[in-house]
Amino acid sequence: MKQMAYETEKKQLTAKMNELLSQHRDQDALRIENAADPFDQIQASVERDLLVGLLNRDAQLRDDLRRAFDLLDSGNYGRCEDCEEPIASARLRAIPWARCCVRCQEMRDREVNEADIFPEAA
Ligand SMILES: [Zn+2]
Repeated sequence: MKQMAYETEKKQLTAKMNELLSQHRDQDALRIENAADPFDQIQASVERDLLVGLLNRDAQLRDDLRRAFDLLDSGNYGRCEDCEEPIASARLRAIPWARCCVRCQEMRDREVNEADIFPEAA
């Protein structure tokens, strides 16, 4: 029974990982072009910022997926990083690479937001 659940999790992670790896972002937008038209320059710069954001997000997600694979291999998959309680299976189905349970995630998100608003207090 336990082994079967493990195989299902691993399949979900593998599918998501392959999906990510098969995505090819158009890296051409990263090229800096000297457009004569100021509007074109602004447009190009906005597209570049957007793409950098997407690439960063991809890299972060890939790290999380790789970590999830490691946890699967070591048999520690599905356990919250912070409180070490099992993560709800519904959450794992939605986010197979989740690092912590909903409660701890909310606490983490709050900390991040507060650091953004009050950087001097962090
Ligand atoms: Zn937790």
